[in-house]
Amino acid sequence: MSRILLIVSGSIAAYKALDLTRLLRKAGHEVTPILTAGGARFVTREALAGISGARVHDDLWAAEAEIGHIRLARWPDLVVVAPASADLLAKMALGLADDLAATVLLATRAPVLVAPAMNPAMWAHPATVANMRSLTARGVWSVGPDEGPMAEPESGPGRLAEPSAILAAITTRLSPGPPLGPLAGRHVVVTSGPTQEAIDPVRYIANRSSGRQGHAIAAALAALGARVTLVSGPVAQPDPAGVTVKRIESAREMLAAVQAALPADAAIFAAAVADFRPAAVPTQKIKKAAGAPPPEIRLALNPDILATVAQHATLRPRLVIGFAAETEKVVEHATAKRLTKGCDWIVANDVSGDVMGGAENAVHLVTASGVEDWPRLPKDEVARRLAARVAEALA
Ligand code: C5P
Repeated sequence: MSRILLIVSGSIAAYKALDLTRLLRKAGHEVTPILTAGGARFVTREALAGISGARVHDDLWAAEAEIGHIRLARWPDLVVVAPASADLLAKMALGLADDLAATVLLATRAPVLVAPAMNPAMWAHPATVANMRSLTARGVWSVGPDEGPMAEPESGPGRLAEPSAILAAITTRLSPGPPLGPLAGRHVVVTSGPTQEAIDPVRYIANRSSGRQGHAIAAALAALGARVTLVSGPVAQPDPAGVTVKRIESAREMLAAVQAALPADAAIFAAAVADFRPAAVPTQKIKKAAGAPPPEIRLALNPDILATVAQHATLRPRLVIGFAAETEKVVEHATAKRLTKGCDWIVANDVSGDVMGGAENAVHLVTASGVEDWPRLPKDEVARRLAARVAEALA
């Protein structure tokens, strides 16, 4: 018994949305339809209203006055786009919000299932292929299209999946069980937060890392179905849902926890690991002695966790991603770091401002094929984009 928002976009196959609505209601689901302008060319709002027993929403501004696109976006357990036209898929991939359907798709946090339907040449076009790839990597599910006779005298994949097949995909998507998604079956290790290096039993050296970015990455990977082990230094962040969290304090403990968590398909090192630790840690608190000079702390080099894992002969994950927090020559340093550390990608950010502990981040993704400058984004969104890229790379 779930709430399903059914978006019907423009395709000659839109009539099948009526049969799908009937099947969904028979299975006990509540259906609210959204009809796009293109969809309305092929199926009437009256027919959809009659079969769904619900109001059909077809206009952004009318919906705004009645219920509001945000409430509409929050209402469903699942959003189903059937048929999904090439145009609507492109809007979804780009994040456009120029009509009610696109706006709700951008605003919803519910899982989304698309059933594409279009001419085979449109389906095979590199633009549609790229759009589907990015939607899939973001966690959008799809069913079909099928191959078979089309309205046009052409054949190839492009036919809307049969309503019974769409219903089956919906049932699978709604059923509780192991998480599904483009990273299902993958294991990813993520490090996050600062490390604390003991000076004595009560004092330590640390840094201002909040763990916000690393924890957001762990959450975004889990949302795409990955099994995630998050190795975190002391932070105030809540544990992300569905993630195994290993708490450590020092860099050496972090390395041990990461090694214990391997093998993995990918590893993302977002922690701000202390490069140095006090060389010797007394068992008693260092005392202030009257008249004596302050003690000197001698430092020792910590292990480099990223480099150790990236250069590991047998346990190196297929994809190893490091972070580079820089205050100057950000991209230049990150490009060099990628090579010296032996990792595949470096996510570089300028931490001269309020990035550490802040809610936003402006990063550059440095890979073997070049540098991408991402706009300034909330850390959650940086995490979602990075997780999508990981899904693409592991696909
Ligand atoms: O060398 P630097 O600290 O600038 O490199 C940053 C990257 O290396 C980050 O991904 C960080 O998590 C990782 N790192 C590490 N172990 C260290 C130092 C840095 O894993 N000891």
